[in-house]
Amino acid sequence: MLNFTVGPVMADDEVLAVGGEQVPYFRTQEFSNVMLENEALMKEFVNAPYEAKAVFLTGSGTASMEAVVMNLFTEKDKLLVIDGGSFGHRFTQLCDIHKIPYEAIKPERGCAVSAEMLAPYRGKGFTGLLVNIHETSTGVHYDPQLLGDFCCEENMLFVIDAISSFLADPLDMQEVGADVIITGSQKVLACAPGISIIVLGEKALKRVQTNESKTMYLDLKDALKNAERGQTPFTPAVGILRQINARLRRIKLNGGASTEIAKIKAQAEDFRSKIKDLPFEIVSESMSNALTPLHPTTASAYDIFLELKDHYGIWICPNGGDMKETIFRVGHFGAQTTAHNDTLILALRDLQKKGLL
Ligand SMILES: *Cc1c(COP(=O)(O)O)cnc(C)c1O
Repeated sequence: MLNFTVGPVMADDEVLAVGGEQVPYFRTQEFSNVMLENEALMKEFVNAPYEAKAVFLTGSGTASMEAVVMNLFTEKDKLLVIDGGSFGHRFTQLCDIHKIPYEAIKPERGCAVSAEMLAPYRGKGFTGLLVNIHETSTGVHYDPQLLGDFCCEENMLFVIDAISSFLADPLDMQEVGADVIITGSQKVLACAPGISIIVLGEKALKRVQTNESKTMYLDLKDALKNAERGQTPFTPAVGILRQINARLRRIKLNGGASTEIAKIKAQAEDFRSKIKDLPFEIVSESMSNALTPLHPTTASAYDIFLELKDHYGIWICPNGGDMKETIFRVGHFGAQTTAHNDTLILALRDLQKKGLL
């Protein structure tokens, strides 16, 4: 299958080879070294400050979103959540479950957040902001600098879920003043799903240390203590952490995060240039390089997904809920080439010929 979804995506041969190996015992110096290198490379690729730490949780991206909400915030906080789609909405659900007070900013579907939209929340005692910097359900990429400046001026903790944006869009932790950056193994890292990663700056680390732990498995105090020696409190997804190591090392050898981002940007631009005469509308403003959200004007988005899956061996990414019939997404990450884009375009033209598009 040719996979243009938003994760899991196609892994490269190197990562696949690691996936085919025996999973080693992990309470060893050898595995600690792998983990310490993973931490160093993660910090490097988001340009984290020296004192920042990275932890690797076994669980998908949502596990890290929940860990951050549970470990950093309490009922004394007042958070601002950007709820512009299903991932933003997930942060509001997590705040509800853990009884963290919040207000949600709800940009229209597919729309960015502007300075005007933030203005009413100034000087109101907010203590933190939660954002999915690329709202993967709609494809919108919010401006991290705008949000970071706002948080800095308002003295708020700035939490970025960059799960689908890390390595697809530029993100500099120090430049934008982020306190937390979250990502996961199955998006642009293009490994198997099952690991999520949290990079924590000094302010965030202090919060973890002073707050009371309310969870065993997602306790960041415990994770950070173990991470000092390259270990985890419980048996992690060792095989995936080794895949991540192969991938991070390869990215480093290829020139670092900027080279990977440039590759994905080129892949997105190639695709966007090739669909100009197909009956699709691009539905979002300020798109991430990670994916293109499309509204087919002549057919059901979900039917196109099914046709491509069942008759062409191609996965595009369907949308859920009330966007199911109107929007599908094409991801630009994983082991893809522009020749793969050509294959997808050919299939879409074939659907058009058959009157299905
Ligand atoms: C994929 C994704 C997640 C995490 O989803 P999981 O299924 O838990 O891995 C969270 N936020 C964003 C923005 C995502 O794209």
